[in-house]
Amino acid sequence: TSFAHFSFDEQLMHQIRKSEYTQPTPIQCQGVPIALSGRDMIGIAKTGSGKTAAFIWPMLIHIMDQKELAPGEGPIAVIVCPTRELCQQIHAECKRFGKAYSLRSVAVYGGGSMWEQAKALQEGAEIVVCTPGRLIDHVKKKATSLQRVTYLVFDEADRMFDMGFEYQVRSIASHVRPDRQTLLFSATFRKKIERLARDILVDPIRVVQ
Ligand code: AMP
Repeated sequence: TSFAHFSFDEQLMHQIRKSEYTQPTPIQCQGVPIALSGRDMIGIAKTGSGKTAAFIWPMLIHIMDQKELAPGEGPIAVIVCPTRELCQQIHAECKRFGKAYSLRSVAVYGGGSMWEQAKALQEGAEIVVCTPGRLIDHVKKKATSLQRVTYLVFDEADRMFDMGFEYQVRSIASHVRPDRQTLLFSATFRKKIERLARDILVDPIRVVQ
């Protein structure tokens, strides 16, 4: 498969060419068409597989469609991940590819300044990349709202569970409208992850790296 199969527009292809990727990785070949179709997805993939771009590219297209349908405040896409480092990495990729459409991304994670993050959220962004507890703190303080979110990603779900974030993960899912699109990524597919998938995804397609 080549990038041409995804039928991305020229703006996004331009950003992809700039990143010097020559061809999509296996998780991208399988995952991108599923995510573009609007279906929920479980991706069993490790770091290094190219999973981040597999959910970011369809996300950008989703946001551009949704922006017209649902003007308003608050992010359209939320990406939840276990650590500050991962948050910053994903945020950097969102900014890099989001440039194609002038989309804004904000990263909020535990250990960073609440005040600075709240300010960034209030300035407005279509994309929020977050650790679970910190997102909930900001929602409680009304620095942001999840009411416009229609694209929800949980990345490295097994690691979030290992770190004790199951309650927060489920709480976030329960606060986003049920007709959203949800993508769940995990390096392993254990019983607990399977149960989470059953609870928060609708008729998902499973992709294994
Ligand atoms: P990830 O698994 O998302 O953490 O990505 C691992 C690394 O692969 C990152 O540095 C990406 O920038 C890079 N990457 C993502 N997609 C591709 C691709 N299609 N070709 C080459 N490198 C890629």
